[in-house]
Amino acid sequence: MTEFKATIGGKPAHVGADFAVLNPATGKEVGRAPNMGGAELDAAVSVAKAAFASWSAQEDAALQAACAAVTAKIEEHAGELAEIITLEQGKPLNGLGSRWEVGGAVAWAGYTTGLSLPARVLQDNEQGRVELTRKPLGVVGSITPWNFPVMIAVWHILPALRTGNTVVVKPSPHTPLSTLRLVEIMNEVLPPGVVNVVTGDDKAFNLGGAMSAHPDIRKIVFTGSCATGQRVMRSAADTMKRLTLELGGNDAGIVLPDADPAAIAEGLFWGAFINNGQTCAAMKRLYVHDTIHDAVCEALVAYARGIKVGDGMEEASILGPIQNRMQFDKVSRLVADAKERGKVLLGGEPGDGLFFPPTIIAGLRNGDALVDEEQFGPALPIIRYSDVEEAIRLANDSPNGLGGSVWSSDIAAAKAVAGRLACGSVWINKHGAIQPNVPFGGVKASGIGVEFAEEGLAEYTDIQVVFA
Ligand code: NAD
Repeated sequence: MTEFKATIGGKPAHVGADFAVLNPATGKEVGRAPNMGGAELDAAVSVAKAAFASWSAQEDAALQAACAAVTAKIEEHAGELAEIITLEQGKPLNGLGSRWEVGGAVAWAGYTTGLSLPARVLQDNEQGRVELTRKPLGVVGSITPWNFPVMIAVWHILPALRTGNTVVVKPSPHTPLSTLRLVEIMNEVLPPGVVNVVTGDDKAFNLGGAMSAHPDIRKIVFTGSCATGQRVMRSAADTMKRLTLELGGNDAGIVLPDADPAAIAEGLFWGAFINNGQTCAAMKRLYVHDTIHDAVCEALVAYARGIKVGDGMEEASILGPIQNRMQFDKVSRLVADAKERGKVLLGGEPGDGLFFPPTIIAGLRNGDALVDEEQFGPALPIIRYSDVEEAIRLANDSPNGLGGSVWSSDIAAAKAVAGRLACGSVWINKHGAIQPNVPFGGVKASGIGVEFAEEGLAEYTDIQVVFA
């Protein structure tokens, strides 16, 4: 079994305690991660703070070259990283699984490397010249969830490095191993202290909370649940940290009456079931017009029946288990409740261990728990509607506002509905497609700030204006 070490200051950190990380497909131990506390966090922040002086003083081209070297390293180790992700996260190597995740991480890293935020001249006339520059912040704390451990870490780390910051990253206790290896690999081409990692089991000591309150961390970029994001915001207040919070979603899809059920079935399925539904911007509620409701349900169920669920290490598996017991229990509870209120079209019964088959339940309404709560798992509620105005109202009747989608053969009609959805991203005839050149973020309770593109990069900087 590979030994997984935390890298602090370019070296393996020696910690007395560790904790087991389990393979959700088998329940067996995959590896052990260091169980760190406040002393290790302080050490990591202190080396990151020391490294900031020389890292941030570099020419922009040198930062860019370093990010290109990091990108190449990730690509070089893509196969190894994908395997670790599958073993600890459960998603298959195949399909939209771990190889796809690492491919995305390489694409994002490469694109972010190529971005820049040049100085701007805001005014240059007889009254004077005003220049705007963007300054790195210092030490950035990155806190990541368990659904896309490597891709989300790359989303946090690369823009921080590109803009001259140094980093302490803390992965979820459910999936720390791929991040430990990722940071080790990055350190092969980075100066010591520029990227550091801390891991803990969240039991005896709350590392994420301590990072959010740490006086020497200047920004937290957090991806995770709304409840934890609110805690981060509270803890960060005293030190006036910059925050990017990418939080939960309860994305609605609306199928308009003129959509073609057969043509949209595959897109609907992957919009909802990508990564077993454990995706922030997955479609978590589907509103279907009365006139095509049954045809859409039939086409979706027919597509879903062909999807093989199994151990992610087997090439035939296209979906894996739910990642952890807590999430499995949540999905089981929501599905059990929905079965009492609606009609199960597919699945509905928990499988062995943490396996749960793709589940589709029709006849549900706003107010039902599976519709109102973020299930973050392989269970899609379908809600029948007869008036498009009503569908828009029901879609917007949520504290969340991450993404949404409209399905129609008439793009202009779909765009008109899209503009009325209260969310950060709206897709037409697809759901959840994100890109490194397009800012992504939630409105309402789904977060603050954006990631990706120049707008996302700018969140790792403070503005300074010079009046001459
Ligand atoms: P979570 O909130 O339970 O955990 C996220 C991280 O926060 C983990 O690393 C955890 O250890 C850490 N943490 C725990 N307590 C903390 C505290 N008090 N202060 C700071 N950090 C703390 O989330 P999860 O279950 O790992 O992830 C699933 C959630 O993430 C879902 O709601 C999903 O929608 C959301 N998500 C959002 C996006 C997005 O971009 N908007 C992307 C992926 C996931």
